[in-house]
Amino acid sequence: MTPFGHLIVGATLARWLRWRGVPVRTEGVLVGSVLPDIDWLAVPFASSRQMVHRMGTHSPLALGLAGLLLRRLGTGSVIAGGLSHILIDNWMGGNPPGVGWAYPFVRQRLALGPHLSWRGQSRPPTLVGYMFEIAVILFLIVVSVTWLKPGTGKPGTGFTYSRSGPSRTRSS
Ligand SMILES: [Zn+2]
Repeated sequence: MTPFGHLIVGATLARWLRWRGVPVRTEGVLVGSVLPDIDWLAVPFASSRQMVHRMGTHSPLALGLAGLLLRRLGTGSVIAGGLSHILIDNWMGGNPPGVGWAYPFVRQRLALGPHLSWRGQSRPPTLVGYMFEIAVILFLIVVSVTWLKPGTGKPGTGFTYSRSGPSRTRSS
């Protein structure tokens, strides 16, 4: 998935969580949703793309560290966005499939659970991949604007929108 696709997933995730009354910070989720692909910067310096891409920065450990470093954006929000990214990368295959779930203890990609396959390959042809991504993006945009409207979420969560941003009223 392209960074734009990951951003749309992050935006939908943030909207869904807020809709459910979870006070995430949208900017934190958005940053987290694209952050793992920062490893592309290391690709020119590596002996092969497989050695660095979808490895260290696509691990739960790295997400935890990123969440702590970027705590101004909300630790949980950054981690939630990052999780959406590595789950999609894990699910959408790649060669070899999976991400660095156990990095640095296991320095290879591990594919957890089911993942998309295309005629026995772990990655569809580029054009099919883009068509699939565009379909997902359009679907998520429609879901966001029609279903996940602010204020229509679970009642009783005390989640309100105000000019100063989201606030959660506490009962205790
Ligand atoms: Zn990635």
